[in-house]
Amino acid sequence: MILSRQEVALAGALLLPALIVGWLTDALGWSLLAAALIWIYIQHRQRTQLLRWSARPLSRPQNELEPWQDLAYRLYRTLGRSRDRHRDTLAQFKSLRSITDALPDAAIIVDATGTIENLNVAAQKLLSLSPRDSGNQLGSLVREPEFISLLKGQIDGELVEFSSPFNEEVRLEARRIAMGADHAMILVRDVTELNRLLSMRQDFIANVSHELRTPLTVIVGYIETLMSEDLDAGTSRELVRKLLSPTTRMRALVDDLLLLTRLESSPNPSPDELTAVDMGVILNAIAADARMLSGGRHQVEVDMSSRAQVLGIDSELHSACLNLVTNAVRYSPDGGRICIRWSPVETGVMFAVSDQGMGIPKEHLSRITERFYRVDLAQSRVRGGTGLGLAIVKHVLKRHHTELRVTSELGRGSTFFCVFPKTQLADPVYKKEHV
Ligand code: ADP
Repeated sequence: MILSRQEVALAGALLLPALIVGWLTDALGWSLLAAALIWIYIQHRQRTQLLRWSARPLSRPQNELEPWQDLAYRLYRTLGRSRDRHRDTLAQFKSLRSITDALPDAAIIVDATGTIENLNVAAQKLLSLSPRDSGNQLGSLVREPEFISLLKGQIDGELVEFSSPFNEEVRLEARRIAMGADHAMILVRDVTELNRLLSMRQDFIANVSHELRTPLTVIVGYIETLMSEDLDAGTSRELVRKLLSPTTRMRALVDDLLLLTRLESSPNPSPDELTAVDMGVILNAIAADARMLSGGRHQVEVDMSSRAQVLGIDSELHSACLNLVTNAVRYSPDGGRICIRWSPVETGVMFAVSDQGMGIPKEHLSRITERFYRVDLAQSRVRGGTGLGLAIVKHVLKRHHTELRVTSELGRGSTFFCVFPKTQLADPVYKKEHV
């Protein structure tokens, strides 16, 4: 056994006095035995201290560990470094975990046999899996045939779409990404909303094309007649005059489309875009327009029992109110009474347009603000509607923190109304006075 320098010094420090004392007292044997016992005791004490320290090797070794101090210190440094590395790895793992858990898409790691190794929080929500499912076959938990083909790698890199096994109405899209030879990541996302928007867009394009095609066909017809036949000046003039109606219709449609697109794509107006809009001015001007449109066939009344001003965008509010009043005229028989009201209610100020018109069947009420939705397409066309009026109204009101409501009775009339909340009113005096 090789002794350390400290041990040699200790042995010397014990042996020398033992020899001297033994020689002087003539009891060399006893004196060496005493020195050996002290040596054993010291060794035992050091080993006990070393054992005690080894139970907590990440605490800095103290001097009493001599002669093991150097060794313990090296061990302490090596363990400290590996602890730091472990902490870094753990922190990276936690941060990766929180990233995958924050993903809205389900991510599941499977091995070559389709056994789940790891999954994120979204996988628990979208596919009702649980962390306890690690070690189970993914294909036995989600049994959709398309999903299983994807899982087996039969459609690698491709997407498959299927209905959620837990809710028929939810559509899921899954993708398999190979990770080396024996692992793959399965990504699953909810595409219900995306599909809805895509189909809305397709419907919208089909509707716009159809709406534009009808007046265009009429225009082309007139132009062909004008070109092909030998017409006298009077008939030609009459045909050109007839071109005005489909052209105006197309312009109204394009104007409404542009307005609706602008409303849908702009964020809600910021406070500095809002002005105090005098509803009295707007409603009186609209009543005058309505009387002109009616040509004296209806009785148009304005009841202004509030002078509250709305914090809003003048042109948008004008357009929304005009659409509602115009509809009231269009869908009311001759002699009908139309009443435009601006009156205080408990929660704010109410704008309402009532008519004694044809009314709207109950089953249509929830859909009339959809783009191009008409209760009666032929009636709407005859009356010059674009099918976008109420969609515009809905958006304008939403941008002013209120919503369009309708009550209607078939054959008796309808009331379209909304309540502007107190926070949307401009003048605190009126707020106090009327609300
Ligand atoms: P349109 O341009 O066809 O009038 P709107 O979006 O303004 O389109 O209205 C959608 C549908 O709601 C109309 O086609 C009509 O069937 C119905 N409607 C709207 N306002 C009234 C009303 N005051 N009375 C009866 N039906 C109405």
